[in-house]
Amino acid sequence: MRKFLERPPLAEKSKVAIARGEDYGEAEKAVRRVVELLGGIGKICKPGDKVMIKPNMIYASKPEEAETTHPAVVKAMVTLCREAGASVKLGEQTGWHCDPELSFTVTGIKDAALAAGADEVVNWDTDEYVTVAVPNPRSFARVMLPKSLMDADVIIHLPKMKTNAVQVATLGIKGWIGALHNSMRTFIHKNALDNGWATTDVVKALGPKLKLTLIDGIEGMEGSGPHAGLVCHPKLIIASQDVVACNAVTCKIMGFHPLEIPATQVAMKDGVGTADLDEIDVLGERIEDVLYPFKRAVNQYVSHYSNVREFVGGACQGCFWTFPSLPPHVDPEKKYALVAGARALIGDDLSSYDEVHLIGICACAPSHQLPGFKERVGRAKKIVTHPYCPGYNTAVHHHEKAEAKGDVFEVPDLLLGDMCALWAVPDVTNEDKMEAALARKENRQSLEDVRRTAEQYYGPALLESSKPALWPMTPLREMAKWQDPVDRELSPTPIRFLQGNGSSAGTPNVVRTDERGEGSIPVK
Ligand code: SF4
Repeated sequence: MRKFLERPPLAEKSKVAIARGEDYGEAEKAVRRVVELLGGIGKICKPGDKVMIKPNMIYASKPEEAETTHPAVVKAMVTLCREAGASVKLGEQTGWHCDPELSFTVTGIKDAALAAGADEVVNWDTDEYVTVAVPNPRSFARVMLPKSLMDADVIIHLPKMKTNAVQVATLGIKGWIGALHNSMRTFIHKNALDNGWATTDVVKALGPKLKLTLIDGIEGMEGSGPHAGLVCHPKLIIASQDVVACNAVTCKIMGFHPLEIPATQVAMKDGVGTADLDEIDVLGERIEDVLYPFKRAVNQYVSHYSNVREFVGGACQGCFWTFPSLPPHVDPEKKYALVAGARALIGDDLSSYDEVHLIGICACAPSHQLPGFKERVGRAKKIVTHPYCPGYNTAVHHHEKAEAKGDVFEVPDLLLGDMCALWAVPDVTNEDKMEAALARKENRQSLEDVRRTAEQYYGPALLESSKPALWPMTPLREMAKWQDPVDRELSPTPIRFLQGNGSSAGTPNVVRTDERGEGSIPVK
């Protein structure tokens, strides 16, 4: 049969170890078992090595929500490295706008790491960053990574076994987006492949220092991962020194094709490892004995509300993700249109629409659209532009806008967390998170309600000390520099954007939601 890649088979097979763990009381036993199967901790680190462990931490969620690496797995890994005579640090960032310090505490990861003998838990959001060349690059010739990570002799990754709305499942490659500097992260969520190329570049920049990927699948998250899915119980720990093989075997267990994650394909093509099960020795449990099919993240492609209509043509995932989230609040008395894509198809007359949201750089540039686009959207009473690529970045930054002040989005991480909860169809989404997100959209929760709920969840002291990580929205032209092996000045390419100067018919009232993107180039 034709192989995925035309290349000679590997000289040596990769190894993936699988162990069962009934619950987190058995985490250490299962972690020890997979490490032993792979040849022992001595193959990973030796006395005097500086080890950096990266868990999987997106928001400040409690361990029982199965969103982050369980503290028992963190503790077991730190313990093993310490027994080997290595010094250990742990580092991670969070998803947008969530305070990493709050997350380290609420997830139990910080306490677990320190209790097991880690020297330090490093908040990569405030760490020093270094520029690292990517060998055999795809998306980035250089990436900015935390200094504490690159100073390590040995890097260990502890992903969670969970689905992901961008990449099918997060696992061993996508998770490395957590090490990329904030200014580089927003840009690479246009679609799954875009994300896969870029995160594979991060793994290549880590090089042979990445010695182990160990997946916490004692409890997992299925459905609307990475944040709003459902807890499930595969009862497994899966580990490998080959991150690609680890992804492939884990995907197979989850009921997906081993090559289904785009990043797995890209990484295999670039020689990072193998996803060909014929080239992998599975040690410990057999795949067929531990199969645990996960519910997938099923995108919700249309708004929940019948007075919000979508008009799409040639749109990517990173733009149509915003459909469940825009406008940030829905007034039942109003009529809204969402327009996205490089050739938006608008068959309806928009003159009766109160607000038209143009999502993404493509929809905001009439010069990129079919003839007549400007006149069609111009009939609306008001136009709101979200001129970034992908468009959801401007939606995520909504809380920074003047009109959001005093609104529920002032609470850290709510907007993106709510977006995640609404991304997927209801039956694969955590019902509580989805209901809370809808309540905020419909103004059924006051800011006081939100604060009270957050206080109950985090506790007053933690909430008081929380400082959301405010990510800069990098102008797109500045992103271009990371494609070059050396830093140099680049001249921007002008794009013609929709201009507005009033609210009379044909010259709509255009509300710019972002002045930091390419859209700041004035066009006559
Ligand atoms: S702005 Fe255009 S290119 Fe960018 S994600 Fe949206 S549709 Fe795709």
